[in-house]
Amino acid sequence: MHIDRYAPSPTSDLHLGNLRTALAGWLLARVAGGQWLMRVEDLDEARVRAAGGAEARQLADLRALGLTWDGPVVRQSERLELYRQAVAALGGRVYECFCTRREIAEAASAPHGDDGYRPYPGTCRRLSERERAERRATRPAALRVRGDGASFTIQDAHAGEVTGIVDDFVLVRADGTPAYNLAVVVDDIAMGVTHITRGDDLLSSAPRQAWLTEQLGGSPARYAHVGLVLGPDGKRLAKRDGAVTLAEAGGPAAVFPWLAESLGLGPCRNVEEALAAMPGESLFERVVWRGQGFWTSSTSIT
Ligand code: GLU
Repeated sequence: MHIDRYAPSPTSDLHLGNLRTALAGWLLARVAGGQWLMRVEDLDEARVRAAGGAEARQLADLRALGLTWDGPVVRQSERLELYRQAVAALGGRVYECFCTRREIAEAASAPHGDDGYRPYPGTCRRLSERERAERRATRPAALRVRGDGASFTIQDAHAGEVTGIVDDFVLVRADGTPAYNLAVVVDDIAMGVTHITRGDDLLSSAPRQAWLTEQLGGSPARYAHVGLVLGPDGKRLAKRDGAVTLAEAGGPAAVFPWLAESLGLGPCRNVEEALAAMPGESLFERVVWRGQGFWTSSTSIT
């Protein structure tokens, strides 16, 4: 069985890197005769609102490229009860944390991985009942799960076995919003996800998420973290690089061939041709994960 999902955050338009990852996941699911589900990760209300209707534009861009999904669009903002139940199911493994970012930065060791993430040093795990009560009176608490520094290994199609240390990470923010790591894991279990294709900026989060999946009674998915598309400066593609969205880069007819080429598929004009060009799942995995796509300018694809 092969059930993958695409999980955009509707906080900006999709850029070529996002679209390339979507195409990779879609092709792998279709070649395997599996499903490709759509989940909109819209829990960050302020950023979603500021992006003014990005969800509709994202879905329209995917459709315009022929990347159709199975079943209805799932929205995280409609699933708050599920996240609450998951926290309840973790019971005594969850504790309140009153630390500010600054306090964590001062107490934690150096950042881990590319994302600057700092493992939580466990300060609030050691509070006495009395200290906890005092802090409750001064600020709202976030909720963390005890990872106890467990070491957890995931399987990635490109990176192979990747092991990470599971610190006590945040499940619910101090403002009551479910944290990304919780929502992703709860949804992947509920949606029956078996394969996760996404950008490799999330590789360092995978061991933590797979560990939480097991704690909640699920089976970790197989991961395929896809290299990011880079701009001319060798850094992750961003708005500063000019024409980076589907519309800016000339629409589907101009962009599709570049996406397919960057995945190692040769000249293809649309999803049908890309599917026909697929060398079979395992070979495709070797080709697609070979490296990053480079995007130099809008003129390179016309
Ligand atoms: N919503 C996340 C993003 O847009 C992706 C989460 C995931 O695929 O696990 O970066």
